Amino acid sequence: MDYLPFTRPSIDEETIAGVADVLRSGWITSGPCVNQLEQALSQYFGGRPVRVMSSGTGALEIALSVAGVQPGDEVITTPLSWVATANVILRAGARPVFVDVDAATRNIDLARIEAAITGNTRALLPVDMAGLPVDRDRLYDIARRRGLRVIEDAAQSMGATWGGRRIGSFGDLVAISFHANKNITTAEGGCLVLADAAETDLCTRLRLQGVVRLPDGGQEVEIAGGKHNLTDIAARIGLGQLKHLEAFAARRRTLARRYFERFDADSGCVLPLADYANCNWHMFQVLLPLERLRIDRGGFIQAMHQRGIGVGVHYPAMHLFKLYRQLGYNPGDFPQAERIGSTTLTLPLFPAMDDADVDRVCAAVAEVIRDNKK
Ligand SMILES: *Cc1c(COP(=O)(O)O)cnc(C)c1O
Repeated sequence: MDYLPFTRPSIDEETIAGVADVLRSGWITSGPCVNQLEQALSQYFGGRPVRVMSSGTGALEIALSVAGVQPGDEVITTPLSWVATANVILRAGARPVFVDVDAATRNIDLARIEAAITGNTRALLPVDMAGLPVDRDRLYDIARRRGLRVIEDAAQSMGATWGGRRIGSFGDLVAISFHANKNITTAEGGCLVLADAAETDLCTRLRLQGVVRLPDGGQEVEIAGGKHNLTDIAARIGLGQLKHLEAFAARRRTLARRYFERFDADSGCVLPLADYANCNWHMFQVLLPLERLRIDRGGFIQAMHQRGIGVGVHYPAMHLFKLYRQLGYNPGDFPQAERIGSTTLTLPLFPAMDDADVDRVCAAVAEVIRDNKK
């Protein structure tokens, strides 16, 4: 039987031909495809300004700059994310202030945010884990009342909605990733959705060396921008992907439903929240009942691999990494994030999967648990 990876991008032949055209065109870095992709994304996000970047991490870094986050500031975030989320805060010279996650959503616990706000808090940086949006009503209510900027780490939530509105079509600064594993991809890439013209101009400069092109053909530089522009090769992939966004999301939803239907209820695994309305089903993550098993998570992953199934770990709690323990964080600080981070397993979920693949994964999980009970 074929090896089933935990994710795989779906790139159609039209996109492959389009990329070949870009390669033959003589202009392969930022150019017409980048402009087209930004226009298409802006339209998707209800007309808001969008700047594409070479990564979601770059979009987050620029968002922190645009929001004026400086050394000495604090930024409130979740301990349960890809480590990019906290790294960008450190790289801005600010302190990541972690707030534990909610057991049901696995996202930052909104009820605990206000207790973490100090005089130094500048921004909130929530993450939509697995494409399940953080409650935007409660989030922006806190931000408005406390005068804080919001940088949405929506890296995983392209195509997700909140109350019928697309993530990215409202709110403050929204950073999205087009990494190869995300719901739509440019291989590597991302974008920042903004709300304000002056901030969009600042974002444009921060993206590429701070350069402003003058009407007389000259250039001016007032800030030291970075190097975060996207290539036309990548943008052309993005244009081909965007057409399929809704179909991809629908297929992911169908596969997620099948997981819920077929999953062995007696396995002891904890399934994700079944939010078919808002979630884009970026990942399907179960919490393993390791306390009942003779194997650890590494052994579980190996047993799945032996059955021809790839799985992932997204993510260990970040405050337990050496870098963050040096800031004073310790085991026990965020019990929900630690429990989820140490037992979570990402099962295969991607648009090109068959229904039968879901059944095969469910059967394999049940078998590994049955064979390894204490
Ligand atoms: C993927 C991801 C990022 C970073 O995006 P890149 O495009 O890989 O730089 C940041 N935060 C979260 C939650 C992600 O999943």
